[in-house]
Amino acid sequence: MTANLLDFDLDGLAAFCDQLGEKRFRATQLFRWIHQRGESNFDQMTDLAKSLREKLKVHAHVAGLSVLSRHDSADGTIKWLFNVGDGNAVEAVFIPEDDRGTLCISSQAGCAVGCRFCSTGHQGFSRNLSTGEIVAQLWFAEHFLRRHLNTPDRVISNVVMMGMGEPLQNYSALVPALKTMLDDHGYGLSRRRVTVSTSGVVPMMQRLSQDCPVALAVSLHAPNDPLRDNLVPLNRKYPIAELLDACNQYLEFAPRDFITFEYCMLDGVNDTPEHAQQLVKLVRQHATGKGVWCKFNLIPFNPFPASGLLRSPAPQVQAFAKILLDAGIVTTVRKTRGDDIDAACGQLAGDVRDRTRVNERIAQQRTIVLKPVTDLTANNKEA
Ligand code: SAH
Ligand code: SF4
Repeated sequence: MTANLLDFDLDGLAAFCDQLGEKRFRATQLFRWIHQRGESNFDQMTDLAKSLREKLKVHAHVAGLSVLSRHDSADGTIKWLFNVGDGNAVEAVFIPEDDRGTLCISSQAGCAVGCRFCSTGHQGFSRNLSTGEIVAQLWFAEHFLRRHLNTPDRVISNVVMMGMGEPLQNYSALVPALKTMLDDHGYGLSRRRVTVSTSGVVPMMQRLSQDCPVALAVSLHAPNDPLRDNLVPLNRKYPIAELLDACNQYLEFAPRDFITFEYCMLDGVNDTPEHAQQLVKLVRQHATGKGVWCKFNLIPFNPFPASGLLRSPAPQVQAFAKILLDAGIVTTVRKTRGDDIDAACGQLAGDVRDRTRVNERIAQQRTIVLKPVTDLTANNKEA
């Protein structure tokens, strides 16, 4: 087995190069070839000594993920579904805006937290992604987009860990992936522009604040414990008061001076004026006295039949937002992007898994090996 170099942050790559008897600056050169230039063929890395290239060919490889499908929205949003093997797929979504390009990526195939309103949660947990599989989503998207948009410049300025999975339940793979995103020899992203979104794995929030403090979004979704226990089962382990204390501790090390609370608006479940008032009380109870310490992002629920839940009507969302705003809490309502390609939250991967299960049943009868629907080159004509 040779090493997949996408699995290493720069320190990891330096340790690997050391084993090959190579100096650290060689690791830096290699890292730049892979992440900044998107190169996977060692023969193309012309400023590396031939002897090193030969060693790399024996001991290493650079393996991305194969693309199962790509969906382009009329608004410029692009969604990819990547094959991670054994009938599992994960998604990444690129969202272009005037002043930034955001890539939303996945950290796990499925998710063990099991939130009621989340189709990934309904699929259950398959496995953690490796560092290489997390980084591969960015590596692929960045270099695909440069070719696609015909630019030598960086396209992705922001990364949000808001695809499938709970990033803080895959901590050991997450941290080197984040370090690669931040590294000046890697993607050079600012800490403020890399966001980990979590359902509230309190001990790991504390570790992240020490190991790799990036921007933090916390999926709150309810203003009291009984309701949050029901919507986000992890709340039974780490209830709201503990979670908000952990948020405040995180802020001491965070690159931004506020936490973003995500709140998925579910009709008649968590969207009444009473819920909004309870939130205001919570925010005030946990204020540190340093002014604004949190912002709310109200997310229109992306419905799927198995949830039995409905999206809150727009006037209900506006009324809810107004109560928070009137109390001085910065609140935005998330614009839905890529609606025509189901670019929100686990939907397409959910479809594929269901189809895969059907295919698996057929395969048991006929021993068919599942193949990607399209491969990278077929999907990416300019490649
Ligand atoms: N596991 C992490 C990150 C992935 S989910 C977390 O829960 O924060 C990213 C965001 O999408 C979370 O805020 C999540 O609550 C939200 N989300 C999940 N399913 C959704 C749905 N069906 N509609 C709208 N938002 C959803
Ligand atoms: Fe997992 Fe996040 Fe979905 Fe909850 S919302 S099931 S934590 S991916």
